[in-house]
Order: sequence, then C-alpha cells, then structure tokens
Amino acid sequence: MLSNYIFTTLCLICDGISLKHLPICQACLDELPKNLHPCQQCGVKIETKTLKICGKCQHTPPQYDTTIAPYYYEHAIKHLIIELKYYKKLHNVNLLGKLLAQHITKQQLPEYLIPIPIHRKRLSKRGFNQSMELCRVLSKELDIPILPNAILKKKITKAQASLTAKQRKQNLKNSFAINQDIKAQHIAIIDDVMTTGTTMNEMARLLKKAGIKQIEAWVCARTHKKFN
Ligand SMILES: [Zn+2]
Ligand SMILES: [Zn+2]
Repeated sequence: MLSNYIFTTLCLICDGISLKHLPICQACLDELPKNLHPCQQCGVKIETKTLKICGKCQHTPPQYDTTIAPYYYEHAIKHLIIELKYYKKLHNVNLLGKLLAQHITKQQLPEYLIPIPIHRKRLSKRGFNQSMELCRVLSKELDIPILPNAILKKKITKAQASLTAKQRKQNLKNSFAINQDIKAQHIAIIDDVMTTGTTMNEMARLLKKAGIKQIEAWVCARTHKKFN
C-alpha cells in the first residue's frame, strides 16, 4: 500500500526494507562485525576470554578509564564510516550514532559529550566533523548535552593512520588545547574509529589535567591490529 510505502526507509547497506527504529535491515544488522570481548579500558579485542583488561592496559593504562567500542572497523561498519568521512554520506551518522547509543548502559551516564575536534581549516574544507555529528545523534538518543568547543585542535596534523605509534604521539604533541572551563566530573569523548587510541589518550590527558575525574571513550568501531 502506498501509505505504508511512504513511511518505509531503506537499509543503508543493502537497500532492503529497514527496521522501524534503525535505517538497517535485520539481516545486515546481524552481520555487523561485533566486538564481543573487548578490553574494558581500551576496547581492543581480548583473546583470553577470562581477562577484562588487556595486558597493555594492565601494564600502561591509558588516561581514559573505559571504552565502549561495539564493532570492529571491518566490513559494513568500515564501509559506512568511509562513506561518511570521504563521500560525505551524512545520513550514515544517524545509523552509526544510534547503534553506538544502543550499547551505552543508561546508568551513570556522563554529564557531557565532547567530540574529537578537527582543525577549523579542515572543518571548512570537509564541511563537517563526523565526531561532532555523532555527538548530535548520541545527545538526542541519550539526552546528554554536548560541549562542542571544549577542546580545540590548534594545529593541522598528518593523518594518524599513516604513522607509527611513536610518530603518532609526536604528531599530536601540543595539537589540542582546552578552550573553556569544564565544570564536570564525568565526560565521554566521542569518535568514529579508535585505532591505537593515541588521539583519545591525548584528549583524556588534557581533560584529566583540567580536573575531570572519569573519562569514557565512546567509539563506533575499534581496529584490532597490533601497532606496537
Ligand atoms: Zn540490509
Ligand atoms: Zn586495553
């Protein structure tokens, strides 16, 4: 019937009929690469199922306290993120943000969401910051306010993906700055993908220095390659 047809949305992956509450069909949802046994602190895949925290975090814990990373950066999730970032398919953010929101435990939510900022020159070139767009969806889903300009990206840095772990740290040195007084104890930093966690760690380091006690990293996807 036409009236039904009007309210039907399509699955962003296969163009089939989507679920009512998400722009994805059940079959594609079931196929998403789930990060089933992540390190609670950094989100990386843990091979030893009895461990809650990976060896690396036990040895040198990052500045952020916990990570929510429901998917691996593979298959359809990788495709959705690449389409969003490089082909400006902004509607993908709606699905990615809602999927991430579904994995957040509603008890003890953070007081604010903070996006990973991009440099203003890069922002004007790309037209949007995917991390900020994810914040908007999460903010609406979970009713948490955003601090959009709490941290500024001061310098244009090279793409982290092309660098070694050591170069990543060097690349990010002094590249972010706190831009306002943040009156909160508990915040979540939002990003699309977490690779080594170097960017997240640098953001968390600044926020801890500014007095924020509890910092969560919320990302749609985690890579699980070893970089060190
Ligand atoms: Zn589908
Ligand atoms: Zn870990």
